[in-house]
Amino acid sequence: MMRTRFAPSPNGRLHLGHAYAAICAHDLAREQGGEFYLRIEDIDGTRSRPELVQAIFDDLGWLGLEWDGPVVFQSERLVRYNDALQKLRDNGLVYPCFCTRRDIAQAQALRADAGNRVEKGPDGDIYPGTCQKLGRHAAISRQKNEPHVWRLDMAKAVKIAGPLCWNDRNAGEQRAVPDCFGDVVLARKDAPASYHLAATLDDAHENMTHIVRGMDLFASTHIHRLLQALLDLPTPQYWHHRLLAGRDGKKLSKSLGSAALSNLRDSGLDGRGLAEALRNNQLPAGIFWLEP
Ligand code: GLU
Repeated sequence: MMRTRFAPSPNGRLHLGHAYAAICAHDLAREQGGEFYLRIEDIDGTRSRPELVQAIFDDLGWLGLEWDGPVVFQSERLVRYNDALQKLRDNGLVYPCFCTRRDIAQAQALRADAGNRVEKGPDGDIYPGTCQKLGRHAAISRQKNEPHVWRLDMAKAVKIAGPLCWNDRNAGEQRAVPDCFGDVVLARKDAPASYHLAATLDDAHENMTHIVRGMDLFASTHIHRLLQALLDLPTPQYWHHRLLAGRDGKKLSKSLGSAALSNLRDSGLDGRGLAEALRNNQLPAGIFWLEP
């Protein structure tokens, strides 16, 4: 049976772009007699705001979207993320990294001064690999006292996994190219999992068959596909849908109050009518499709 999900992070109010994502995921499942789930991605300790969770429920209800089963909260899944991280640790696929942002910036600057190109990935500068060169003993002793993240040893992971593919409903068959991200963070200082690890594990655990989300997460899927291979998880189908933009031509962001669903809701707008309009590709004034 088809299973889809909407997985918002409660770090700001949902906007029209989220409404579109939720409608796409909801309708895809319902059209096939499948199930639609809601997952709250609330493990970003510094940005997550529990008071926004109720607003997410209210926004979805206002749009006329009903989800199946209990809501999943990532904050209740930390043990599972830790177990997966341990498996990667046992296989020597992650290493602790003690670098602060400043350390990384300095290392990049030194590289640039030495005439090396600072490589950029889809999420910004690629980590220069400083902590990968730490000896085993230094890494173990520093772990006890110093805050650290865990990074994937990308070169090793890609080698072990071999060639991988995934499929997107719009873009078709894709060869996974996670290497372009470099050594991504899989567990953070304040959370036992990054978005990549937590979302990949949850999607597998919840038996999601189709992952529907915006084009802005297209590149992340390369990492998710690699994690699936490393952790023996199934690979779902993907649908990265087009994004909505404001008058400035930039994709909608949580800071743009005009597109916040709660504001539209408070203004008395009919949410079901809005959902129907979005289904028919009719966008409210001042909102546009982001050009690919
Ligand atoms: N929590 C992510 C976000 O709000 C979406 C994750 C996903 O759909 O994979 O951007």
